[in-house]
Amino acid sequence: MPRPIEALIHLPALAHNLARARAHSPDARVWAVVKADAYGHGIERVFPALRGADGFALLDLAEAERLRALGWRGPILLLEGCFEARDLETCSRLALWHVVHREAQIDWLAAHKTQQPHRVFLKLNSGMNRLGFRPAAYRGAWVRLNALPQVEEISHLTHFSDADGARGVAHQLAVFEDATRDLPGERSLSNSAAILRHGLRNDWVRAGLLCYGSAPDFPEHDIRHWGLEPAMTLRTKLIAVQDLQPGESVGYGSRFVAAEALRIGIAACGYADGYPRLAPSDTPVLVDGVRSGTVGRISMDMLAVDLTPTPQAGPGSEVTLWGCGPHGSRLAIDDVAHAAGTLGYELMCALAPRVPVRAEG
Ligand SMILES: *Cc1c(COP(=O)(O)O)cnc(C)c1O
Repeated sequence: MPRPIEALIHLPALAHNLARARAHSPDARVWAVVKADAYGHGIERVFPALRGADGFALLDLAEAERLRALGWRGPILLLEGCFEARDLETCSRLALWHVVHREAQIDWLAAHKTQQPHRVFLKLNSGMNRLGFRPAAYRGAWVRLNALPQVEEISHLTHFSDADGARGVAHQLAVFEDATRDLPGERSLSNSAAILRHGLRNDWVRAGLLCYGSAPDFPEHDIRHWGLEPAMTLRTKLIAVQDLQPGESVGYGSRFVAAEALRIGIAACGYADGYPRLAPSDTPVLVDGVRSGTVGRISMDMLAVDLTPTPQAGPGSEVTLWGCGPHGSRLAIDDVAHAAGTLGYELMCALAPRVPVRAEG
């Protein structure tokens, strides 16, 4: 028998969450962002549930190829554009739209031979300082692109650093409005946090995280607040039980010492499955659908859970690391991520290849 661990991808939840993105931006078209293999869910798996999107955004050309192989003929946007000149051949062959964020990408376009002119999204660095033309250089880049026969249509794009937090988007929005003033073209500003928290005018929104049932502004808001459903469940079973006497420890480094008698279960999940190794004791977990916490250090293949809330639990009992548990129970991936000092993004993307994954619904 294989190890009892598995991940489930909930297709109706993905479709539901995409519909939430639409409801928040009724005047925009929606890119479903499927970079990083659909945030760890698998592009081929999520495709049937997200094909109602207006387009797919990603950054790996091989992933774009996989989407085309699935029969997707609509828009695909490369969020980081081309990494080298010959990537433009792939863009032409697969009809990919691409971001242009630095001068060399314009040089490559100017030298590119193509039958079909390209649709590009010119990226403004409005303050995040990762990718994009600075405001003073933006108009010049637009003028250059606009003069190229290789370019069919130019849209405007920027990315927010603080859409989920206190600083907000106003400062970057002002830079964007100023830099794009009087320039024709569609605009794409909002990621998940901006879609949910800021009702900005967009022609295209870029919905990533929210599609996968994680709240970008947790713990201020959780997925229940935003009406989102978990798209991934990671679950396993107990493979052993230990009755600890007071003073006995659990796991590597004896990090946890029982103050009193304690019954713990050993679950078949560890950091080699993608569970965060740095999760401290009492990181939330469901046992038979009842909320409990981890005990001691996370090992490569196992972790321990407190069985105090579920005295009847034993080997074979179901352990939900995140997502949907038995009897309608839920444990948001954000809850686990927060306890472990990370984000829902990181946990879902880190699901390890050794975990069998099944799509359902
Ligand atoms: C990943 C990414 C997104 C999606 O962000 P979420 O927070 O997951 O919605 C949007 N835009 C760009 C440029 C990205 O790289």
